[in-house]
Amino acid sequence: MAGVQGSVQESGLRTFGFALAFFGVTSLTIYSTRFSGGLALVWFGTAILVALLVNVPYRAWPRTTIFFASLSICATTLFGFGPHAAVPLALVNMFEALVIATLLVRFRPERDYFENWSGFVKLILVGGAVGPALAALPGGALVAAEVGGGWWSHSIEWFAGHGLGTLLVLPLALLLARGNSSGLAKLRARRGWGELICLSLFSVGIGWTAFYQTAYPLLFLPILPLMIACFLLGRIGASISVLLTALVAFASLAAGAGPFAALSVPLAEKAMFLQFYLVVILLVSLPVATALKHREILHANILHREALHRMISDHSDDALLSLDDAGRIRFASPAGVRLSGLDDLDGRPLSVFFEEADASLIENALAQAGASPGMTKVIERAVATRGATVWLEAKIRAVEGRQGASVSYVVTVRDVTVRKKEELQAMRDACTDPLTGLPNRRAFIKDLEPALAAAGERPFSLAIIDLDHFKAVNDRYGHDVGDLVLKHVAKIMQRLSDADCLFARLGGEEFGMIAWHDTVTASAELCERLREAINEHQIRDADGVMFGVSASIGLARLDQPCSATLALQTADSPLYSAKAAGRNRVHVAQGAPGWKYRTEGTDERHRLMQCA
Ligand code: GH3
Ligand code: MG
Ligand code: MG
Repeated sequence: MAGVQGSVQESGLRTFGFALAFFGVTSLTIYSTRFSGGLALVWFGTAILVALLVNVPYRAWPRTTIFFASLSICATTLFGFGPHAAVPLALVNMFEALVIATLLVRFRPERDYFENWSGFVKLILVGGAVGPALAALPGGALVAAEVGGGWWSHSIEWFAGHGLGTLLVLPLALLLARGNSSGLAKLRARRGWGELICLSLFSVGIGWTAFYQTAYPLLFLPILPLMIACFLLGRIGASISVLLTALVAFASLAAGAGPFAALSVPLAEKAMFLQFYLVVILLVSLPVATALKHREILHANILHREALHRMISDHSDDALLSLDDAGRIRFASPAGVRLSGLDDLDGRPLSVFFEEADASLIENALAQAGASPGMTKVIERAVATRGATVWLEAKIRAVEGRQGASVSYVVTVRDVTVRKKEELQAMRDACTDPLTGLPNRRAFIKDLEPALAAAGERPFSLAIIDLDHFKAVNDRYGHDVGDLVLKHVAKIMQRLSDADCLFARLGGEEFGMIAWHDTVTASAELCERLREAINEHQIRDADGVMFGVSASIGLARLDQPCSATLALQTADSPLYSAKAAGRNRVHVAQGAPGWKYRTEGTDERHRLMQCA
């Protein structure tokens, strides 16, 4: 509550201060610069009111405008055209201020007119041109009605006097109206005030030298204090220096001294030329101050980002790296030492984080990132360090240089071992049959498809192994014992598998085999060994009674590419015939090249035969 009261008091004081300045300045300019009994040469009142309006809420605009209009009426009545013209002139003055304030707030709600170019240009255009131009038409007509003369020439006088006055005072007035804004920050230090006083004296002194003599053409001199003011005190310094220079120049003209008074043209033209000179000086100095302020803001942003970057890089578990155009590390955050195992990374290539064998891969990744700046290239590699395998992920992004060439890289290196292990485990789980631990159907098809694609060059054998009467096993011994049987069968398969053959559980009590043997005979012998092993294996049931199972196997030789479905069907048909022939046997698909194998004379059930 106290804060609200404080701010209300503060805004009341500000309005009072601005009103006082408005009345004083307008009275003074009307009194001292109406050289030909017409308009004041320069008009600062609009700028003072505009600065106040853009810094108060819209709802305060009517009462502020009415208050300032009454002050304007008083000033015109006391020092200008008199009471009869005071009201319409005040109306035009208020109209001008309202137009400028409305446009400034509309175009730039942030009100940061001196912090960047866009704001500054809008301020100059609206305050120095649009507002005064719109008011100049009715204003010129009023003056023409009052003192005679051409409406057009009075309008131009109005435009020049009001445009210049507004440009001269608006920057300073805006900075003051914002009160505790950053514009006044430099003045808070005692040194700032000292500098301001010195600079003001310097500006007045230089102005005096330039504007009160005609022996030498010294009109360039006032630029000097202006520039010093820009660099030392920024926008507020530049605004005050411009204003003081203008006041000294007007005073010299009023006193009939100096280069402007010495011109052999009518007074109105002298005044015009002086105004033109001052506008040029103003437009030279204020942009410099604005540009400096803009840089100051950018610099502060950079410092802030740097602090943020340092904070992140010091405490991040990821290594944050900066690489030059040759891919050499120029900056590495502390985590880089831990992840690379090297104390000093400066000048080293990114590949020091990875295995030597991956060096060219990393180079390629950098080249790819360099070819499309802004895109992130991600690379994951396993690194065997101190006995343990760690997975590192590098994210590489090229930073585009000025001419579009990649000049550097930013890289993060992260330890993704936990995630990678989980991923690998998930992949393994997705391809493994949980009961038997054998590859599942999906994994089997994944191996079968490339084998089929290359079957022309590298023929192979495909077998389907199906347990006989397994339903009966389940029915008789229970499902758990059935599971146990499946596990035992899988173990036998794992024992028989080698580099040339692999087994998988295709589903239920059905298994598959791919074998890259040179001949189908070799594959058939393996199937026969498998069949025998399954048949000989004894399992104990819940009551301790031993029993065995058998399997029928269909085998096919594949030497042409075909679909996985067709290949499985090819092996399925000898399986069907093996079942039909009495089970517990291996049948080979007809037409398999080079098929000669046949066991004769042994137990009929175990016979291996060619499938019809
Ligand atoms: P065939 O000799 O003609 O192959 O007869 P089968 O009884 O083995 O064939 P069928 O297709 O009729 O029955 C297969 C049985 O396999 C049915 C089902 O109870 C059993 N089975 C399938 N998956 C599992 C499993 O995961 N565990 C157990 N215990 N049994 C399974
Ligand atoms: Mg079956
Ligand atoms: Mg079966």
